[in-house]
Amino acid sequence: MSVQTFTTATSVDDAVAAVAAGARPVAGGTDLVVGARSGKSTMPESVVAIHRVAELHGVESLADGGLRLGALASHAEIAASDDVRSRFTALSDASAIVGSHATRAQGTVGGNLMNASPAMETGGPLVCLGATVTLRSPSGTRTVAVEDLWTGPGKTSAAADELLVGVEIPAPPAGTGSAYLRLEYRRQMEIAVVGASAAVTVADGLVTDARVAMTALSATIRRIPEAEAALIGSDGGSAAIESAGAAVAAASTPISDVRGSADYRRAMAAVIARRAIDQALSRARGENA
Ligand SMILES: Cc1cc2nc3c(=O)[nH]c(=O)nc-3n(C[C@H](O)[C@H](O)[C@H](O)COP(=O)(O)OP(=O)(O)OC[C@H]3O[C@@H](n4cnc5c(N)ncnc54)[C@H](O)[C@@H]3O)c2cc1C
Repeated sequence: MSVQTFTTATSVDDAVAAVAAGARPVAGGTDLVVGARSGKSTMPESVVAIHRVAELHGVESLADGGLRLGALASHAEIAASDDVRSRFTALSDASAIVGSHATRAQGTVGGNLMNASPAMETGGPLVCLGATVTLRSPSGTRTVAVEDLWTGPGKTSAAADELLVGVEIPAPPAGTGSAYLRLEYRRQMEIAVVGASAAVTVADGLVTDARVAMTALSATIRRIPEAEAALIGSDGGSAAIESAGAAVAAASTPISDVRGSADYRRAMAAVIARRAIDQALSRARGENA
């Protein structure tokens, strides 16, 4: 490690000033520090610890029915929230399976999003739930749709002087259900071979809105409009789910690596997508929690 300067911020202004001066923020450190310790990356020369910034903590249900997550909300806190579990269920599914108990206690949603791994757990659910992130720099604050945050593996559209301060999710319309599932080789300490997120809205027996996003299937997490089109206007029955799964496989551009070949990933993408969509539909219909 080659850290020359290490400071600890206690306010957002301090943290933003440090980042603008060239320091890299460290939240839980489970990507940044663990990656450097294992030799996958090197530590930046200048680091600002942000874990003591009170304004960046919290999981807050908003008066308008939406949800606000502080950048430092941990996966454990998010998974433990009754509101997240009941109304933003795909996010709860995802947060509950990040790493191990220790990873979930330490790792944050802000770190997960800004690390920009195509296999990150919370990204797909947040895309499907229509979330935005708030980025702050010395020149002001701006809001970016989560689906526009990533530009490639490990890369975001945030400027070098921007700190992610929070995530906002709008109130889901009545009749909405969502789910996240991943294909994994073991229950804990494993990242997704393929992950699928779905959020669907059902009214009078028909699917009126659908979002499907795939994880670990291309350079960034992305929605599959063809799968969404196969669901919208349908009765959400097996034929529509089958078509959506086929659309996911057709649109996927997976890599081959130690976890699976591209062909295997493409085939499994259809299976995992169908299961996530089916579960989201069941939840939208109130068939299970
Ligand atoms: C054993 C193990 C298992 C894991 N399993 C999973 C898993 O199953 N699924 C999964 O998705 N991830 C997994 N991870 C990765 C990691 O735990 C998560 O990505 C976690 O959410 C990262 O959060 P953090 O706060 O620790 O990030 P940090 O390591 O502190 O930061 C990560 C990156 O984000 C930047 N950053 C952090 N906060 C901000 C901010 N507010 N504004 C701007 N930039 C910021 C940092 O500069 C750094 O580049 C695992 C990690 C370990 C070590």
